[in-house]
Amino acid sequence: MPHIMIIQKSIPNEEWKEILTPLQYKILREGGTEKAFTGELLNNHEKGVYVCVACGNELFSSETKYDSKTGWPSFYSPISENSFIIKPNSGSINASEVICAKCGGHHGHVFTDGPEPTGLRFCMNSAALKFKKK
Ligand SMILES: [Zn+2]
Repeated sequence: MPHIMIIQKSIPNEEWKEILTPLQYKILREGGTEKAFTGELLNNHEKGVYVCVACGNELFSSETKYDSKTGWPSFYSPISENSFIIKPNSGSINASEVICAKCGGHHGHVFTDGPEPTGLRFCMNSAALKFKKK
């Protein structure tokens, strides 16, 4: 499994603390969640690509972003099935955890109440994403 090899070589948490902001660290390295309706990218409707703020891995296209009314940026599909590692039913929430396949950072959860064509809702933390305008 190439993903797992990459994660094993990844940066230790002490170094992440210097690279990331405290909020980014809390989300990506500790599985935290930003406050609903606070994310900068929540209402971003520009065309482009959303990448992992920690490692630049391409995660979502603006074309799959939609307003889920939950207060977090939501997408119905990742840009590639290799963008993430999905950890089924982790923690207390009845949803699968979504982890960056490149750096191992926690990004959010995927729920099964999303719109067509996938029926999935990738519920993401704005602070863990970086938007690259097309
Ligand atoms: Zn990453």
